[in-house]
Amino acid sequence: MTLFDNPAFENHEGVHAFHDEATGLKTIIAVHSTTLGPAAGGCRMWPYESAEAALTDALRLSRAMSYKNAMAGLELGGGKSVIIGDSRKDKTPALFQAFGRAVERVGGRYWTAEDVGVSPADLEEARKETRYVAGLEGHAAASGDPSPVTAEGVFRGVRLCVERAYGRDLNGVTVAIQGVGHVGAYLAEKLHAAGARLIITDVNQAALDKVAAATGAEVVSPDAIFDAEAEVFAPCALGGAINADTLGRLKGRVVAGGANNQLASPQIGRALFDKGLLYAPDYVINGGGIINVAAEIRGLEAGTAFDQAWVDAKLDRLALTLGEVLDRAVAEGRPTHEIADEMARERIAAGAK
Ligand code: NAD
Repeated sequence: MTLFDNPAFENHEGVHAFHDEATGLKTIIAVHSTTLGPAAGGCRMWPYESAEAALTDALRLSRAMSYKNAMAGLELGGGKSVIIGDSRKDKTPALFQAFGRAVERVGGRYWTAEDVGVSPADLEEARKETRYVAGLEGHAAASGDPSPVTAEGVFRGVRLCVERAYGRDLNGVTVAIQGVGHVGAYLAEKLHAAGARLIITDVNQAALDKVAAATGAEVVSPDAIFDAEAEVFAPCALGGAINADTLGRLKGRVVAGGANNQLASPQIGRALFDKGLLYAPDYVINGGGIINVAAEIRGLEAGTAFDQAWVDAKLDRLALTLGEVLDRAVAEGRPTHEIADEMARERIAAGAK
């Protein structure tokens, strides 16, 4: 397969490959679109089995960032970088400095941040060579942990979906949360405060104990969460929670949570729709995290401090956007994930005019 045959290529503006012999760095920086602003998306370090696998991942994730940033109403385009390597043994400060030089050569058309396998300490090294790095502490525009902001966006999205599907507020509604890590734990707190009943699961006992003690949640095994008697299923762990094995087991009418890539395939999104379930498209409802990062980029570009009011206004807007997706899905009788993709493409096209 050549670059142009790759189904994920889809009109990428630029794909940059760098090999730094001295440090062994092999990185691909994919810039899907800068129509709405500089491309922003994290850097992932992963032991890809081939350069082609790394390229496909970079392209896929980069396009996804264009859509996510557009739906979050940000003046940012979509991009992503991948470093081919094992984050447990191949990391050196020099490798991440070389990565920083690669980002610098893209000339400000791409801002990087953390993703799987890359830590703040790694980004500190990259920062020595480029200013286009978000997600670091120690400066006035620093945005800190995005999880509480992500959780706030997800909370508002769950509330909206319950209103639409059940015509009621969250008081007395049961929500099943899969994964009570950063986002799931904050979400549990907010739902509990709104009067919801919680059923939770995780593979991490300590996280479970903490959330159960704080919220009175019922704890079930990771597999039993799909059978929970709950109006809402909130995936907040890894991707692929909604698949051919789990879809038929869900008891409620709403799927709304913080995890990325909740649908195992677009076909499962169609099946979910055919069953009459309401799905909050993952990259729309979890856009709070990137809004937080965008506030940092905005501050760094303008030389100003982190602006919480700006973040709050964007979160308000995000809830309205989710409402628009749900409205259009009803009006057109189509699944929400298809509508969200379409709206993202429309927003990018409108930006180009
Ligand atoms: P996290 O690692 O803190 O939490 C994930 C939790 O899921 C962990 O407690 C883990 O033990 C648990 N888990 C893993 N496998 C599980 C399984 N099979 N069953 C039940 N629990 C399982 O990560 P996070 O930052 O809370 O992110 C959660 C999800 O939200 C991820 O998909 C992430 O990509 C997405 N997301 C996070 C943010 C953010 O701001 N942190 C923003 C957007 C999207």
